[in-house]
Amino acid sequence: MKLCRFDEDRLGVVNGDMVHDVTAAQDEIRKAARYDMKGDAVIAALPQWRSRIEEMAAKAPGKPISSVKLLSPVARPSKAMAAPTNYKKHIDEMRSRTDLPKDATRMPPDIGKAGIFLKSNSSIVGSSEGIPLRFPDRLNEHEIELVIIIGKQGTDIPKAKFKDYIAGYAMGLDMTCRGSEDRSFRKSIDGYSVIGPWMVTADEIANPDDLLITLHCNDELRQTADTKDLIYDCGRLIEFASSFYTLYPGDVYFTGTPQGVGPVKAGDTLRGKCDALGELVITARQHKIGG
Ligand code: MN
Repeated sequence: MKLCRFDEDRLGVVNGDMVHDVTAAQDEIRKAARYDMKGDAVIAALPQWRSRIEEMAAKAPGKPISSVKLLSPVARPSKAMAAPTNYKKHIDEMRSRTDLPKDATRMPPDIGKAGIFLKSNSSIVGSSEGIPLRFPDRLNEHEIELVIIIGKQGTDIPKAKFKDYIAGYAMGLDMTCRGSEDRSFRKSIDGYSVIGPWMVTADEIANPDDLLITLHCNDELRQTADTKDLIYDCGRLIEFASSFYTLYPGDVYFTGTPQGVGPVKAGDTLRGKCDALGELVITARQHKIGG
């Protein structure tokens, strides 16, 4: 099942080029959820609600996806995790760069030593929201990544059990303002964590460690990722993160960028494509100071 959030906080099931409105399910789930729960109520309720949501979608008239505004498929993650240095060719390309200060290209050889980092929840947007670029005098770059969406609370999750904890997958853009500051600071700007175009539930993705994802900036192919090249694969990433944190339903996890990162300027349109996950299309604009 492909689940999206659209327009003013509506929930939809995507079928072909159409979206079927199932907001009534979202309303009921949210009404029954505790305010102090950690994580996203709708993602947490999916195992119990899935068949009802599918029935509702089958009865709901469809609307063309092209006519709706796509938001992040998760409304309220408790955290956004991200892996740095998780493709060898990306580590190599960053080390060989001469256009950045030395401390902006530091790349520990091992993600185990680098650790993962957190991006602010307030930086998360869906594809129709656009990316409001800040600091035009600095280099802003795209990083296309596979995003894991956690489905179930868990801590100290063994690698072999990771699939039990996953609700689904999406594509993500870990937008990055390059520089010497801490990663979390530079990668948490409003709009710098794009997730979309929707979430594909885990049952539709037989092997997340064998997905081909491409990124075009305007008409230029910039990045090609094959997730089989991940240094820490999806299972190891979940094991690693959950050895530090409890994971909650709706938590999102950017798995790291492959090689080919490049500049993004106001007016550029980025297109992330994956056969299994759809096409994420988003346009960058200049952030207006005070707006
Ligand atoms: Mn990244």
